[in-house]
Amino acid sequence: MSTIKKITCHVVSAPVQRPFTSSRGWLYKTRGSCIVEIETADGITGWGECYGPSHVAKSYIETQLGPRVIGRDPFDIEVIWEDLYNRIKDYGGKGMVTSAMSGIDIALWDIVGKQCGKPIHKLIGGAYRTQVTSYATGLYFIDMDRLIEEAVEEAQGYVEEGFVAIKMKIGLGSPKLDIARVEAVRKAIGDDIRLMVDANHCFTVPQAIRLGRELEKLNVEWFEEPISPEDLDGYIEVTRALDMAVAGGENEFTRWGFRDIVVRKAMDIIQPDVCAAGGITECKKIATLASAHGVECVPHAWGSAIGLAATLHFLAALPDQPPSFRPMPPLLEFEQCENPFRDFLSVTPIVQRRGVVDIPTGPGLGIEINRAILDQYRVA
Ligand code: CA
Repeated sequence: MSTIKKITCHVVSAPVQRPFTSSRGWLYKTRGSCIVEIETADGITGWGECYGPSHVAKSYIETQLGPRVIGRDPFDIEVIWEDLYNRIKDYGGKGMVTSAMSGIDIALWDIVGKQCGKPIHKLIGGAYRTQVTSYATGLYFIDMDRLIEEAVEEAQGYVEEGFVAIKMKIGLGSPKLDIARVEAVRKAIGDDIRLMVDANHCFTVPQAIRLGRELEKLNVEWFEEPISPEDLDGYIEVTRALDMAVAGGENEFTRWGFRDIVVRKAMDIIQPDVCAAGGITECKKIATLASAHGVECVPHAWGSAIGLAATLHFLAALPDQPPSFRPMPPLLEFEQCENPFRDFLSVTPIVQRRGVVDIPTGPGLGIEINRAILDQYRVA
């Protein structure tokens, strides 16, 4: 039996040339991550990633979680998960601590895959698909004097690159401006490109319903995070009021966090993040819970090549919802803002062609890490 020998957290950060914002209002001036490296006694290295403030994840791992994992069998993934969760839940079982657990979980799956010589998706159910259609996440707010023009230009750029689906940010403090901007993008890309909107929970229930009714006329596929994630009853109101799908859950964690959303069908689509909600192990459980209640699962992704690869394996093993002759498989969120960790951390970058991304087939995550990128951008 191989045992876990060492855990290292690489906190990396890179400046962004053109800072951008969403309705949240904070300005993204850097991109960064907490990359988790786990080594076994017989020399296998697994990689994971934690979503959210990187130094916090590192601190959780170094002071709380890591010491409990050293010396254990990496194949005991669920046993380790339950032990870590049981250790920390009295202090809050959500947020950064589950992000830190996610990084460990993904790295353990990478180790197990490498040890077995199989890609992760073959170990968590198998390949429902070998490719996924991706959607470009972008159209943030950059130049406040050219909000409509820049959105149109960016969307046209994605179509030229081959994307067949795009998600744009809304929530500019004026429903009129939001609608004008979505309308201009829809006009520019035509009706065959799938279009989604993401409000990053900036609206009230009546605002979201009124705006949603206008967005439906523009053939918007889903309305992501219309309102604040704490307001589950509000989500139920918005979801019932609109014909379009309502999505959310990137800031929810573990099967217990998602239980109430899916049992009450507060959203049509849940979006757990494998680097935040508890890793691949927990996201599998969340997806099963969703499927039992007729809720779609389309994961959130906003990280490096490691998070992206982990999301791809999770997506490969996610059943069609529902299965059918010509199913509509879940999409990959392929975030497109400047991020060297997405583009260069894997020796062979993960790319889309005609909007489609191949599921990695190599052992574990199926990517090789470029350590020079970690060295170049390491801040802790
Ligand atoms: Ca989002």
